[in-house]
Amino acid sequence: MIYFDYSATTPMHPRALEAYDEASTLYFGNPNTPYPLGKDAYSLLEQAKKTILAYFLLQQTKNEIVFTSGATEANNLAIKGTAYANATWGKHIITTRNEHPSVLAPMAELQKAGFEVDFVDLDANGQVDLDALRQLVREDTILVSVQTVNSELGTIQPVEAIFAIAHARSPGCVVHTDATQAIGKITPTYALVDMVSFSAHKIYGPKGVGGLMLRPSLNLIPQITGGHSWSKLRSGTPPVPLIHSMGVAFLELIKHEVEQQKEVAQLRKMFLNELISIPSIKPNLPAKGVPHIFNISCLGYSSKETVNYLINKGFAVSAHSACSGEEEISQPVLQLTQDEARARSSIRISLSHLSTKEEVLALVKALRQRRMLA
Ligand code: PMP
Repeated sequence: MIYFDYSATTPMHPRALEAYDEASTLYFGNPNTPYPLGKDAYSLLEQAKKTILAYFLLQQTKNEIVFTSGATEANNLAIKGTAYANATWGKHIITTRNEHPSVLAPMAELQKAGFEVDFVDLDANGQVDLDALRQLVREDTILVSVQTVNSELGTIQPVEAIFAIAHARSPGCVVHTDATQAIGKITPTYALVDMVSFSAHKIYGPKGVGGLMLRPSLNLIPQITGGHSWSKLRSGTPPVPLIHSMGVAFLELIKHEVEQQKEVAQLRKMFLNELISIPSIKPNLPAKGVPHIFNISCLGYSSKETVNYLINKGFAVSAHSACSGEEEISQPVLQLTQDEARARSSIRISLSHLSTKEEVLALVKALRQRRMLA
């Protein structure tokens, strides 16, 4: 099978796997215990935190990392934790309709609990309309949550401008970004952001671990409660091997992401050039997007039909994002193209520096062959 679904998940980097092994065998102590084996495990957590803050270019700050089971949990903690901690002075929240389900579902829960959630308009490029945002932010806006990169289209949001507007209008407002699809793909600065969610399995780390980076002064209500642990915001024994392995995955990004991004950009260019010759295929390209995510509509076929056709030909691609389930229409593609036929026939191809020119050409060939059969 030729894998083109790196935005759904990635294989583990060999060094991340080695790190997992090492921590499991040599440093298996509980990091909450006081003897040397526990302290050694604890220092692996500290080391991972340092690496991740360095990746975010925030090594000089006192920012904290809460380790979680992934970005879903990090988003839940960021959103519900902030809402319940600030409900005494405001209940107004702003987000977008193109967020990942792990943002939209907690937002829906909060709406039911009496919070007011506004979805800011997106412009023709799928980016937040900054004027519309200015109109929406109020003195009682407690949270603005906007993803850094969209998982279906790769659209990059102007997070810094968004968060500057939010802070200017409501100084107490907490700003959060889900950077799960951005890490390793672009290197924005997170200087103005209060909280950033991330996940290891999208960056060649292990599944089942991620985190929330946050400013130390933030007041959050923990969503998983229990005994005292590494972070007061998340009970449970930290999975040291997973966290250590994630730290190593971030370290690899620090060393190699720039060259990897260049490789992917070249592959994308080649892919696009090849596809231009197939009239029934329409690339859905945001004006500002990451090169890794390549969304196309195969006109005349539903998303599911194209995915199944490609599976039968030996390719792994997604209809939308892996977490949007059986939904038949892509909301982000509809928003971008304003064309229902395109939104019903779109698929997401996601590239990696591990992808090769030959793999891309094989995929183009399969798509071209089908057009002739159709
Ligand atoms: N946010 C985004 C943008 C994602 O793409 C994903 C994974 N599909 C998640 C959150 C959830 O991440 P995890 O699998 O680590 O819970």
